[in-house]
Amino acid sequence: MSKNYTNPETIGLHAGWRKDENTNSVAVPIHQTTSYQFDDCDHAANLFALSELGNIYSRIMNPTVAVLEDRIAALEGGVGALAVASGQAASTVAIQNLATNGDNIVASAHLYGGTFNLFKNVFSDMGIEVRFVDPSDPENFLKATDENTRAYYGEVLPNPSFEVFPIAEVAALGKPLGIPLIVDNTAAPVICKPFDHGAAISMHSTTKYIGGHGTSIGGIIVDSGNFDWEAHPERQPALNNPDPSYGGAVWTEAVKPLGPIAYILKARTTILRDMGAAMSPFNAFMFIQGLETLALRIREHSRNADEIAKFLMSHPKVERVSHPSVASDLAKERADKYLSGGCGGLMGFEIKGGIEAGKQFINSLEMFYHVANIGDSRSLAIHPASTTHSQLNEEELLSAGVTPGYVRLSIGLEHLDDIKDDLSQALDKVSV
Ligand code: PLP
Repeated sequence: MSKNYTNPETIGLHAGWRKDENTNSVAVPIHQTTSYQFDDCDHAANLFALSELGNIYSRIMNPTVAVLEDRIAALEGGVGALAVASGQAASTVAIQNLATNGDNIVASAHLYGGTFNLFKNVFSDMGIEVRFVDPSDPENFLKATDENTRAYYGEVLPNPSFEVFPIAEVAALGKPLGIPLIVDNTAAPVICKPFDHGAAISMHSTTKYIGGHGTSIGGIIVDSGNFDWEAHPERQPALNNPDPSYGGAVWTEAVKPLGPIAYILKARTTILRDMGAAMSPFNAFMFIQGLETLALRIREHSRNADEIAKFLMSHPKVERVSHPSVASDLAKERADKYLSGGCGGLMGFEIKGGIEAGKQFINSLEMFYHVANIGDSRSLAIHPASTTHSQLNEEELLSAGVTPGYVRLSIGLEHLDDIKDDLSQALDKVSV
């Protein structure tokens, strides 16, 4: 269908799609259909038996969504992807595909708040324990591991520290034990390629940079195809034992003729089929539009953010700036090792004067949007201590890394001068 391109700019425009075979349409059509006519009973039986891959029902697969999946799999360098209804659904499915009641995973404590909540409360209600560890020392993952640990989990570029996760170090600790590293690469698409560093699975909230225009909620999981599930049958029972939810299929064996896609095919044909958090074809279409310019946008977001980080570092009302471009010591080493072509558009800074100064600053912004989102083309800001984290006491705020004067910025694609002007006039209005 299309060549195997390796450059993200070209992948975003060409991977997985050339034209519609019936109409020659260049843009990917929105296949707004629930179901697909089977050729005959044998065809239907083959599809259900997975002896032939094809469309059955749009909760499980859809041709528009499939283009997005192929394109993002190519972008990450994986063998397959599964698009779902949101980033939250992506992290849920990614874990549920391996872990069940009585199992555990070890996760970085530096996570998006929604993921933290999901892991700490919803998963524990389901009997999956999540052991949170400080990711700055990779050995912490090993220390928290036992025979029921099914996966390691981390965020490539976590907020609020913006210290890059030690991907290769943690992946290398897990590999001999049969424990895959799953990473959330939402904040660093294109600029980080987790599979090059040993991660087994990556996921994104496509809501953010991939969509890029603040219009649609979605998520995706990508399988690198390079994790040897079969070598560790006791560690990974979900993929190596007969699965009663699919006629007793042993996934690592059943998919052999189709390639190293046991993990991602199981996720689609059991968890997505049964839990039903499917991505709508319309949202997939929106994300395909976003992908066309993703590589360009993330570079420009990064360039603007680098300049804003320098600008804020030298501002008298700013105490501290968090962005990989101004990191030092180990954080800098890891940023240099894992990011290429930019440090991303997300950053945080500590304003002098605590909560009141933070609120004053946000209230004074004119161009920045004050929203609970990231990765939009527009510049966005939020003051976590008075919004997303306002229910936490001082101690909890500190352990989450959210200090009273901490402000999070998602630097957009406006002209740098206009971004600086808005930050500058808002800082001027803060009485320290
Ligand atoms: N992962 C990260 C890093 C996020 O920032 C978010 C949302 O902010 C999510 C996952 C969840 O994504 P969604 O809002 O699409 O469910």
